Amino acid sequence: MRALVPFGKRNVVGVITAILSHTDIAVNKLKPIKRLLDEQPALPPSILTLCNWGIQYYHHSPGDVFKNALPLALRNESTPLIELVDTWQISTKSRLIELASLSRAPKQVNALTTLRNHPNGLTQTLLAGLDIKSPTLKALRDKGLVELHKKEQSYANWATDSVLRETCLTLNEQQQHAVNTVLNTDQPDNDSKLSFATFLLNGVTGSGKTEVYLQTIEHVLKAGKQALVLVPEIGLTPQTLHRFQQRFNVPVLALHSNLTANQRLSVWRQANAGSAAIIIGTRSALFTPMKHPGLIIIDEEHDLSYKQQDGFRYSARDMAIVRAKIEDIPIILGTATPSFESLHNAKEGRYYALPLTQRAGGAKLPTFEITDLRKAELKNGLCKTLIRSMKHELKQGNQILFFLNRRGYSPVLMCHDCGWNATCVMCDARMTYHRQPTHLHCHHCDYQSRINQHCPECNSTDLRAIGQGTERVDENLSELFPKTRIIRIDRDTTRRKEALENHLKQVNTGEPCILIGTQMLAKGHHFPHVTLVVISDIDSGLFASDFRATEHTAQLILQVAGRAGRAEKPGKVILQSHNPEHMVLQSLQQQNYSAFIQHALPERQLTGLPPYGYIAMLRAEAAHADIASRFLEQVVEQFNNMTSQTVEAWGPVPALMMRKAGRFRYQVMLRSNNRLFLHKAIAELLPRIEPLPDSRKVRWHLDVDPVQLD
Ligand code: ADP
Ligand code: ZN
Ligand code: ZN
Repeated sequence: MRALVPFGKRNVVGVITAILSHTDIAVNKLKPIKRLLDEQPALPPSILTLCNWGIQYYHHSPGDVFKNALPLALRNESTPLIELVDTWQISTKSRLIELASLSRAPKQVNALTTLRNHPNGLTQTLLAGLDIKSPTLKALRDKGLVELHKKEQSYANWATDSVLRETCLTLNEQQQHAVNTVLNTDQPDNDSKLSFATFLLNGVTGSGKTEVYLQTIEHVLKAGKQALVLVPEIGLTPQTLHRFQQRFNVPVLALHSNLTANQRLSVWRQANAGSAAIIIGTRSALFTPMKHPGLIIIDEEHDLSYKQQDGFRYSARDMAIVRAKIEDIPIILGTATPSFESLHNAKEGRYYALPLTQRAGGAKLPTFEITDLRKAELKNGLCKTLIRSMKHELKQGNQILFFLNRRGYSPVLMCHDCGWNATCVMCDARMTYHRQPTHLHCHHCDYQSRINQHCPECNSTDLRAIGQGTERVDENLSELFPKTRIIRIDRDTTRRKEALENHLKQVNTGEPCILIGTQMLAKGHHFPHVTLVVISDIDSGLFASDFRATEHTAQLILQVAGRAGRAEKPGKVILQSHNPEHMVLQSLQQQNYSAFIQHALPERQLTGLPPYGYIAMLRAEAAHADIASRFLEQVVEQFNNMTSQTVEAWGPVPALMMRKAGRFRYQVMLRSNNRLFLHKAIAELLPRIEPLPDSRKVRWHLDVDPVQLD
């Protein structure tokens, strides 16, 4: 329950998680709670259990975990847990009077008759809808005939016998099998029994995963239960939300970052009350309570955005599985490119694998072509054979998607005379050169600066843009294809509200065009007219030092490639590389994620890294490099003094980008083949860190199951 508690000189909203009968804390150090804020618990038992699991598993502070779980608006003491609405009700006195006595005020007679028919009262909003205005009601109140109360909002439930708004597609065999398995309809009595199990819906791009979600949800809704759907991003893929709203005749509510705190609270309340049938949201929607939980879906389960990268570093996918277990409901993890962890769990029998190997509705997977960029002849920075292919495609009236995961004009601004290049004053990183408007921008810490006309080292004016960002590709393509519409979609062109929707609308007209885009376009979008996808400059992802870099690169390539040929026309992917014989590219050329896995997994096994080992990262940063590294050395020393032999500490080593936003960063990786041993060691280590001499001079944190080593 929420409570108001004294904290220093202030009062703050706290959460009571348990009541103890004794404590080791001295009585004079204890303070009484000021008051309870609500009459019922703020979180249902399932979410409380989930939070407690998170506190233990991520070794994180309870306060911060609950802060993540509760809607922001409820951290304000004056916000009631349950919405109160103005409700008009007849008074006892009004039962006694004759309506005839009001005959000269017909509006009042009408209002009183209506309220007499609803002795429990009607909300002000509802009465306004019946054209009963508040002056009339106030006049009646002055006569003591009606009363105004604040009453708890009550919500209507959806009609379970008419949940569909449109007819469904006929599922193919694999889709049908997936739906039946999740719903457990193979039971003898042919009745679906929703109970806990984790399903890995491993379906190639365009195989109809969304249709499987929709038809599974349909059954859940008919059983009067709710569905929670987590997606990586909603703002970027308005289509997804539309498909749910189009299909169902029930309240489908979205939780996304553009909502105000009060709008989020409203969704939360409706889900908690059981009247929101489907809740679609990003990572933090995980904590939305459901009165009648029926199903959880994690779309694009491999997506990195499910891991929170600061504060409470939880994985919404992993916690969703825990939640499904607590609520005893099925959970579907859907993706075309499963994470290694999920594949491993499926192989070990912890998840049920549900493969969708074909594209639905007769569309074919695109063909894959790798262009060797070495010694290739270039025009405006593009390979000549590529230009030919693009011309051919446009002539056929098709659309092209040009993927380049780097915004701005060029990643490097260099002095041609002395080799100086523009670096960030705060980070070990180059500044990206932007032209609209002209400036230098560090994409790591957001530092921006103006561009000097002269090299700061040698005063030369010959400063050159090296390499390509989307802005430059835009310029080059406009020169090469002057008559074609070029639509660039990246963070710079979609800053204004509605900009993205307008761009997507243009694409959906189906007119030939070239779409230039970053990651924003990689996932979820359905572009039926795109037949050629060009993937440019992906090589850096093949050689990065993060052990997951190739996994993430392969996933990105297949997701982008999956935008091609999703309708009747066949699609083609051209991937440009200076390393065409690289293992990742070779195995993906056959459109074969599993071929790639078979190469990549043994490497993980050899090094004992996830999914074969378990890791946690201790990171520290300080204003001086030696303080951060010295602190972590002290931590490792403490660690080595502990008895545990089965957990290793690797490091300290500098972070991949040692200096970021003006701070020096070091890290230690803790690793074990046994998850339990790792967690025991962490629990033993953490209390020894706080007393270390340097712990106050650094900022440090623990990241359990890290997904990115930056
Ligand atoms: P995914 O989510 O796996 O990328 P979608 O669910 O978006 O795939 O489906 C891709 C396309 O195939 C959509 O246009 C969808 O309407 C269509 N589709 C899905 N299932 C079927 C089916 N059983 N029959 C015909 N078309 C289908
Ligand atoms: Zn110079
Ligand atoms: Zn920077």
